[in-house]
Amino acid sequence: MLPKRKKVRITGKKLSKLNDDIHGRDDSKCIIKGCGRYVDPREKFHHEPQGNDKEDRIEHGVTLCLKHHTERHSGTNGADIREQCEEYLSGLYPKYWERFM
Ligand SMILES: [Zn+2]
Ligand SMILES: [Zn+2]
Repeated sequence: MLPKRKKVRITGKKLSKLNDDIHGRDDSKCIIKGCGRYVDPREKFHHEPQGNDKEDRIEHGVTLCLKHHTERHSGTNGADIREQCEEYLSGLYPKYWERFM
């Protein structure tokens, strides 16, 4: 069993700052291979994982363009997009992501 940890949830200015940080790290470009489309910094980052397990921290946030963001949430290739997000984040934060892989 993994130790229970409080999930990080933030709002307001802190959340805007996190969004800026994620855009800064990703150079405001969609991280999906072969995409790299520019994403407006006001566009909200994607949480991976999403839903109940989501956390507001940089280790769980990626920049996705609107097309891939929509696909991740409701497209037929959502699983593929999820894999790419996980690969990307675990490549950046291997120590942190170890426990999820
Ligand atoms: Zn999302
Ligand atoms: Zn994209």
